[in-house]
Amino acid sequence: MIPFADYHMHTPLCGHAVGSPEEYVKQAVRLGLKEMGFSDHAPMVHKPMPGITMAMDELPQYNALIEDVRSRYAAQIDVKIALESDFLPGYESKTKAIIDSYPYDYIIGSVHFIDDWAFDDPDPKVKEYWKIHDVNDVYRKYYGLLRQSAKTGFFQIIGHCDLPKKFGARPSVDLTDEIKATAKVFKETGVAVEINTAGLRKPISEMYPAPHCLKIYCEAGVPLTFGSDAHDPKDVGRDFDKAVDLARSAGYSEYLTFKNKKVEKRIKI
Ligand code: ZN
Ligand code: FE
Ligand code: FE
Ligand code: ZN
Repeated sequence: MIPFADYHMHTPLCGHAVGSPEEYVKQAVRLGLKEMGFSDHAPMVHKPMPGITMAMDELPQYNALIEDVRSRYAAQIDVKIALESDFLPGYESKTKAIIDSYPYDYIIGSVHFIDDWAFDDPDPKVKEYWKIHDVNDVYRKYYGLLRQSAKTGFFQIIGHCDLPKKFGARPSVDLTDEIKATAKVFKETGVAVEINTAGLRKPISEMYPAPHCLKIYCEAGVPLTFGSDAHDPKDVGRDFDKAVDLARSAGYSEYLTFKNKKVEKRIKI
C-alpha cells in the first residue's frame, strides 16, 4: 500500500534536478498516487545560488509550469503547488515575501544551512567543513534552527528533520532532550513533519527522520506528511511502502494533506 500523496519533489529550475514537471506527474499517475505536490527550492534569500535553488526571476515561470500540469492532469491527479524554503535567520522578511507572493498550498521549511555552511552539500569543497566541525555541535545547532524555523509560522511542514546524518555523521551523545524540545515546539506551532524517503538514496541509507526521532514526534502529537524528495521523475513515490511501515511503527495512523496553507484532509494509513 502506498500513501496517496507525495508532497516533496523538485523541478530542473533548481539546477540540480532532471525531468519536466509533466514527467513527474506521469510517474505519479503510473504509480496510482491520487495527489502530489511540487516543492522546488525557493529562491535563496541571502545571495543567488545557481545550481542550488531557482533565481528570484524564475519564480513566475515555476508557478506557471506547475499550474499548467495541474490543470492538464486534473482529471487524473490532484497536483499541489508548494515550495521548499530555506530557513535562514535574519532573512525572515524576504522569506515571507516569497511565500506570500503566490497562493501556495503549503511551504516546506528546511534547514540546509548552519551559519552559512550548507552542511548537506555534496560538493567536496563544502563537505570538507565536516572535518572542522564537532558533530554533536552541528546537531545541537541544527535542532535549535528547526525550532526557530517552526516558530516563524511560515511553514506547514518541516523537511527531512534529521538532515545532518545525510553523509553518515551520527551524534555520539544522546540528543533525546533536544528532539523532545523540538517536538514540543512543532506541536505548539502546528507544523507537520515529513517522512522523507530520499535518505535511503544517500550514504546514510535511512529515511528522515530516524525511527526513534519519528516516535518522539508522534508521541508529542506532531502530524505527518510523506515526501520522496524526488529530483528525478523515477524517484516519485519511491519507497513509500517502507515509509508507511515506518509511520505505523512510530505510532502514526494518519497523515495530512494541505490546500491554501490549511489542512485539507486527514488520511488514514
Ligand atoms: Zn534539492
Ligand atoms: Fe532539502
Ligand atoms: Fe527537497
Ligand atoms: Zn529537500
